[in-house]
Amino acid sequence: MSVLPILAYPDPALKKMCLPVETVDESLQTLIDDMLETMYQAPGIGLAAPQVGRGLRLVVLDVPLGEQERTGPLALINPRIVEREGTTSIDEGCLSLPGLNCPVPRSLKVKVEALDREGKAITLEAENLFAICLQHELDHLDGKLFVDYLSPLKRALYKKRRLRELNEDA
Ligand code: ZN
Repeated sequence: MSVLPILAYPDPALKKMCLPVETVDESLQTLIDDMLETMYQAPGIGLAAPQVGRGLRLVVLDVPLGEQERTGPLALINPRIVEREGTTSIDEGCLSLPGLNCPVPRSLKVKVEALDREGKAITLEAENLFAICLQHELDHLDGKLFVDYLSPLKRALYKKRRLRELNEDA
């Protein structure tokens, strides 16, 4: 397994609509393992394929469900939200948006259909942080970052700050 570089805003690859996974094979499973290792190392609770420069409809997650419990490592291939209920919002962070935490409007509960890492069809019902994390990761597959939910002014300010940071790094 290897840790992959995580792309950060405003990398144009993060804005692309991702393509459905056609075949679940060994190379996809290697990508899943690499994405999980990358996520744990960051550390984060979710990572989408476009964040490591792969334009595929694939996300990995491992979300805390309470004090002790976690979902454990999860890979979702071609995930789709089929039901939503309620509203919620928390300060979200994103491995591709360094130094930014903002509240984002989300559904409180979601039902997601996807394929698991073996290519088997599964249905997940999630609420609270797990539901928020799913919505956040699935947004990535449509080229959407939570910075897109901010006002144009706030977004412009963040972009300016990022570009300045990138110049200082260079
Ligand atoms: Zn993210």
